[in-house]
Amino acid sequence: TRQRDEDAAKQECRTADGTRIELFANLASVEEAAAAVAVGAEGCGLLRTEFLFLERDTAPDEDEQLSVYQAIADTLGDRPLIVRTLDVGGDKPIPFLPIPHEDNPALGLRGVRTSLWRPDLLDAQLRAVLRVRPAGRCRIMVPMVSGLDELRQVRERARAVASSLGDAAPFELGVMIETPAAAMLVDQLADEADFFSVGTNDLTQYTLAMDRTNALVAAQVDAFHPAVLRLIGTAAAAAARRGRPIGACGGLASDPLGAMLLVGLGLGELSVTAACVPTIKARLRGVTVADCTALAERALAQTSTAAVRRLLDEPSVAPT
Ligand code: PEP
Ligand code: MG
Repeated sequence: TRQRDEDAAKQECRTADGTRIELFANLASVEEAAAAVAVGAEGCGLLRTEFLFLERDTAPDEDEQLSVYQAIADTLGDRPLIVRTLDVGGDKPIPFLPIPHEDNPALGLRGVRTSLWRPDLLDAQLRAVLRVRPAGRCRIMVPMVSGLDELRQVRERARAVASSLGDAAPFELGVMIETPAAAMLVDQLADEADFFSVGTNDLTQYTLAMDRTNALVAAQVDAFHPAVLRLIGTAAAAAARRGRPIGACGGLASDPLGAMLLVGLGLGELSVTAACVPTIKARLRGVTVADCTALAERALAQTSTAAVRRLLDEPSVAPT
């Protein structure tokens, strides 16, 4: 079985009808990159750079960041690497960035808002990412965007950084779809975004208006809610109309049934917890895109999370 696992790890992720789905891993360290490659990850769809910033008194400087990003890029070889800009604030506070007290941190300075509030940190990170060799190696992804203006500002800063580095190489800039606003504005965001990735964890929290860290509602913060699925479907259709790739990097992609729904909703790339790569690959190999589309259509018509989960529990959905 060891040989069989290794062979499976080397195979490209395709559905039973041969449709290519890129299967990436979410990463937060150099060590995880090596482990992800070993189990067959085809790239990194979300590098959570927060790991470099947490539990320390000062921000990592440009060179320190560069050496880590470069090491991860080298470990991945020529596989794609999507680096997310710092996503702090809200449930992810850091000591050297004292955000004034907020009554509702989840609705306050978070993700791109924090970056635009402290552009010095953003610029240092952009410089480090854009200095990774070969030029153009990293795709840059922006979290918690709610409209085109934020993305424009980040693109402007990235352009300025690239030109100050004397770097003419083009870079790809993408945006996370993790607010309902972003999901509704994909057609507009496509003016500035080269790609999209749905952050199902936050998209669920903000769609349902339920704090993902609040134990009293945690059980209901479920990405299988039909409203979340409809927003993802809307976003995917708009991305397709604009010819932009769209994937997902939230927890829903790491669930085999969630992965089927996401493929059925039109996503072409899934970034999952590294340990889930073999399971998701195996599941997608056993189903066709038509199976996934039919399932997604039925899920979109359900009136509750429980009804979606009942549908997914039907034996015909997940033959073993
Ligand atoms: C998400 O919100 O789905 C996501 C991938 O980002 P994070 O979990 O890091 O907030
Ligand atoms: Mg998020």
